[in-house]
Amino acid sequence: MYDYLVVGAGLYGAIFAHEAKNAGKKVLVIDKRSTVAGNIYTEEIEGIHVHKYGAHIFHTNNKKVWEYINQFAEFNRFTNSPVANYKGELYSLPFNMYTFNKMWGVVTPEEAEKKINEQRKEIVGEPKNLEEQAISLVGRDIYEKLIKGYTEKQWGRDCRELPSFIIKRLPVRLTFDNNYFNALYQGIPIGGYTKMINNLLKDIKVELNVDYLENKQKYNSIAKKIIYTGAIDAYFDYKFGNLEYRSVKFENELLDIPNFQGNAAVNYTDKDTPWTRIIEHKWFEFGKDIDGNDLPKTVISKEYSSEWKLGDEPYYPVNDVKNNELYEKYKNLADKQNKVIFGGRLGEYKYYDMDKTIEVVLDMCQLELY
Ligand code: UDP
Repeated sequence: MYDYLVVGAGLYGAIFAHEAKNAGKKVLVIDKRSTVAGNIYTEEIEGIHVHKYGAHIFHTNNKKVWEYINQFAEFNRFTNSPVANYKGELYSLPFNMYTFNKMWGVVTPEEAEKKINEQRKEIVGEPKNLEEQAISLVGRDIYEKLIKGYTEKQWGRDCRELPSFIIKRLPVRLTFDNNYFNALYQGIPIGGYTKMINNLLKDIKVELNVDYLENKQKYNSIAKKIIYTGAIDAYFDYKFGNLEYRSVKFENELLDIPNFQGNAAVNYTDKDTPWTRIIEHKWFEFGKDIDGNDLPKTVISKEYSSEWKLGDEPYYPVNDVKNNELYEKYKNLADKQNKVIFGGRLGEYKYYDMDKTIEVVLDMCQLELY
């Protein structure tokens, strides 16, 4: 009999399993995929660690989280500074003095602020949705060229129907600072995220290619408790209807050139380009292999966002009012399952970044294990 069956070998599941084992518990981890690491899985192709389920850049302000994860990986000094491509015009992200200079020709912070203030006047009162929030942060010009098209492709919804918190993830700065994140600590694990997860799962029994939901009775009978990190609505067989998610499809290409776009991420912010962004994975590691040699080839991934349907991989929860209400109904059921703990981006239907995931699972471990 296992003390814990962990369903899902992603970041949340792997950390729980690691902590449970350290606390002397008997643990089994299962995953329906043939690989560990969930959506942070990286695969090595031509010496490049390819982020198979989308780019993941670790960043946090939480020192405890940073120290914790550094036990399992050494992080490089990568700093995310994506470029926006709007119909061939290139802009710096996040919104900063380089962006404002290119957009309006302003040179000083004072001039930039004046321009933004003029434009944000059109929003009076508390912003009610993402569009109003964006305009009140940076004005209409930037909204139209760098936010609207990208966001509507990414979420498949009108910006007036999206919650404003999504855009608050992006900083706005009156300095020449292209660092996308406001984070004290940032980097990519040297050797890839899969290696980091394997370090967490060291000496823990893992079974891949097995579907918990299809064999629930059997799996429930072999463990005292279940840590479930899959989609909460799937667990309950979508009985109240499905929660909405965005899914992502990737078109990967191995190119026989050393440099395709000169940056890890280029966002296509117009509405007509069908992909949202192109990731060139080698730049997460400065174009070098593990021994510091320049890599002759490159791997790129075009990212296409789509509405999730049964059979697709869920990536992003759509945390609008309607879905959050539906989630609460599932959460009520989940709270009554004494044997099962629901966790992670899918189990809690929250747009968690990796650092937040670590924070919540460590909190959960405190309550559960010690
Ligand atoms: N966003 C945007 N333009 C960009 C990049 C981001 O409008 O060039 C908006 C968009 O609404 C997106 C949100 O900011 O959903 C959050 O972007 P982030 O890069 O944090 O998303 P993730 O990397 O998690 O997909």
